[in-house]
Amino acid sequence: MEKRVLITGGAGFIGSHLCDRFIAEGYEVICMDNFITGTPDNIAHLVGHPRFKFLRHDVSNYVYVEGPIDYILHFASPASPIDYLKLPIQTLKVGALGTHNLLGLAKAKKARLLLASTSEVYGDPLIHPQTEDYWGNVNPIGFRGVYDEAKRFAEAITMAYQRYHGVETRIVRIFNTYGPRMRAQDGRVVSNFINQAIRNEPITVYGDGSQTRSFQYVDDLVEGIYRLLLSDETEPVNIGNPDEISVLEFAQEVIAWTSSQSEIIFQELPSDDPKIRQPDITKAKTKLGWAPQVRREKGVALTIEYFEKSLR
Ligand code: NAD
Ligand code: UDP
Repeated sequence: MEKRVLITGGAGFIGSHLCDRFIAEGYEVICMDNFITGTPDNIAHLVGHPRFKFLRHDVSNYVYVEGPIDYILHFASPASPIDYLKLPIQTLKVGALGTHNLLGLAKAKKARLLLASTSEVYGDPLIHPQTEDYWGNVNPIGFRGVYDEAKRFAEAITMAYQRYHGVETRIVRIFNTYGPRMRAQDGRVVSNFINQAIRNEPITVYGDGSQTRSFQYVDDLVEGIYRLLLSDETEPVNIGNPDEISVLEFAQEVIAWTSSQSEIIFQELPSDDPKIRQPDITKAKTKLGWAPQVRREKGVALTIEYFEKSLR
């Protein structure tokens, strides 16, 4: 019998790449999504595959799945700042109630659950780079709090189910990830800059652009998640690319790599926007034998190609 994996948020950017990976590895994949920020286009190529099944469902409500489940990958949640600012209650509910429902399902099915957490649990960090033992600097009542605190609650309840119910759990703290199947309009910096550049529209740098991020290509993330799921590591693990760059420098790179006529314009910095962000990946390297392989130039080129094709 093939192993069965349930992927929530499977029609989203990262979730759909996970569906592809688990199908390629020979698993039976159940993808669950309510399309609140995802799209059927991301999984259209899998529909009809004998080992792929789609269930349309909001996981903040009771989750029912027939038959055995070996693994649950809980990726359902709005993830881009403009999405979670538009959907604050849904974001809190899916992080809290959704995670609770899936942990309950994991307990009932004796499945292992991997939670998609985020570098946002570190907030606007006071240590650099961020190690897993850093507790973070989060404004609970700020606009970003709906996402950050939902994920922090999700981590807490996941550890509680591990400790008190003996459910097997894994937690991945994902740092900024980009690649094909991001939505052109999702408002994240990589999709915004590439789409603005290929349309020769102004590139919108927020603040003075001195804030930094460390961008990881989606294939590297999927490899890290796959290794973590099958590992014995029961505490959170950072998966990200430590190659840090300022937002302004990134805008200049995108202009150069798209041969764009765009000019850079400066707009207001959103509140609580973290000033720096870089993962310390020592743990992933030592425990999972994982390190990112795709350089930014290559990953961004593949993403530009994807967005250029979707414009045609
Ligand atoms: P995405 O918006 O493309 O995907 C999220 C998916 O979850 C969408 O398909 C959406 O429709 C679905 N969803 C949301 N709420 C749901 C609900 N209540 N029930 C069922 N489905 C629901 O975002 P993404 O970038 O692919 O992010 C996926 C996961 O990874 C999220 O949990 C996010 O917090 C986490 N993450 C992503 C990044 C990143 O850089 N992309 C960084 C850190 C963490
Ligand atoms: N950003 C920007 N211009 C944009 C979109 C984002 O300057 O058009 C900045 C944003 O203020 C933040 C960084 O780019 O400092 C990354 O933003 P993103 O929304 O991708 O994710 P975050 O890491 O903030 O969750």
